[in-house]
Amino acid sequence: MAAQIIDGKAVADRIREELRARLARLVSSGVRPGLAAVLVGDNPGSQLYVKMKGEASEEMGLAHWTIRMPADTPQPALLAEVARLNADPQVHGILVQQPLPPQISTEAAVLAVDPRKDVDCFHPETPAGVVELLVRSGNDPAGKDVVIAGRSNIVGKPLAALLMQKAPKANATVTVAHSATKDLAAHTRRADILVAAMGAPRMITADMVKDGAVVIDVGINRIPDATKKSGYRTVGDVDFAAVKEKVRAISPVPGGVGPMTIAMLLSNTVHAAELSLQT
Ligand code: NDP
Repeated sequence: MAAQIIDGKAVADRIREELRARLARLVSSGVRPGLAAVLVGDNPGSQLYVKMKGEASEEMGLAHWTIRMPADTPQPALLAEVARLNADPQVHGILVQQPLPPQISTEAAVLAVDPRKDVDCFHPETPAGVVELLVRSGNDPAGKDVVIAGRSNIVGKPLAALLMQKAPKANATVTVAHSATKDLAAHTRRADILVAAMGAPRMITADMVKDGAVVIDVGINRIPDATKKSGYRTVGDVDFAAVKEKVRAISPVPGGVGPMTIAMLLSNTVHAAELSLQT
């Protein structure tokens, strides 16, 4: 049977539609949710992410600000800017884009954000996107053996924490693998749900996946491709063409987890604005 291709863009569009109704309620109560992104330096990837987040906020009707600071900004200056945003009642969500330059401690910057405004952290976007993608595609993780390949602080670890909770959309038995895992395939082959988040292009091959499994590919990797004008194309951590032949469901790259990440950021900002009405 052909695998279900989990369409992240369609799910993200549904989430945005649901947010519109919540946004309308907030606006009628006099609150327009606002997201401030702080960008230190000129990392091209960060500039692109911040631009995409700003455009998505604008399209949704959220207020948004991008605060650009030079690459040599001293840590106290960044912390002062975050403190100003913490105190601004129009700002409901604050995002300090990573990576930060070496003179600034990422931990200090993250800790400086008021937890009520920490849209990046109180429900990490990419892991939250993976959970929504699973649940909304009819692949609830409850009771399933989930293997996550990758243990980073922004994807693997928070995703494991979300999925092992005793809670709806969770209740999975979670294994987290990494580069020191002795036999990665022995773990991935047992997975009912396999999440690949390694940053290793097409490393998950068909022989590493159980028949009928559900596979979510978080990886975003550029590989050379002479047929493309840009000279490269984007692939995930999973060998999609081969793996889709034996699984029940699989998310593609692009068009899987990627679109979910921005939808979850918008969702977190609206949620923070709703909470601000309760305090
Ligand atoms: P990191 O490089 O921070 O972490 C990668 C993790 O994978 C590490 O835990 C590493 O192990 C593990 N790993 C790497 N190679 C192997 C291997 N060969 N076998 C087993 N484990 C391995 O990456 P991120 O978590 O930041 O990102 C992972 C991927 O997801 C990247 O491709 C990134 O671009 C993409 N991404 C996509 C997003 C989206 O919105 N779709 C958002 C964020 C990231 P160890 O800890 O031992 O080094």
